[in-house]
Amino acid sequence: MGCELCGRAVETTTHHLIPKNRKDSPTVQLCQPCHKQVHATFTNHELKQEYDTIEALREADRLQSFVEWISKTDKTDVQVDESDRVRRWRG
Ligand SMILES: [Zn+2]
Ligand SMILES: [Zn+2]
Repeated sequence: MGCELCGRAVETTTHHLIPKNRKDSPTVQLCQPCHKQVHATFTNHELKQEYDTIEALREADRLQSFVEWISKTDKTDVQVDESDRVRRWRG
């Protein structure tokens, strides 16, 4: 089936759209790079409040350039930089 964010037919991992509530959370399949990027870009709070659907993630301004780039590669692992907000949130 492939990654629901970048659309590549690669191995995927399960992302919980509502990270704090894994038991009841809907899930989507994301490739490793997209999954890492999502968690490096957004805090769990932001994910829960604003990006709790795959459509919202697909339309997120802050993911556009990443998705555009990764979709043209065959990379299955990447280094990602955490956003300042995520870094602060992690403390
Ligand atoms: Zn992907
Ligand atoms: Zn996740």
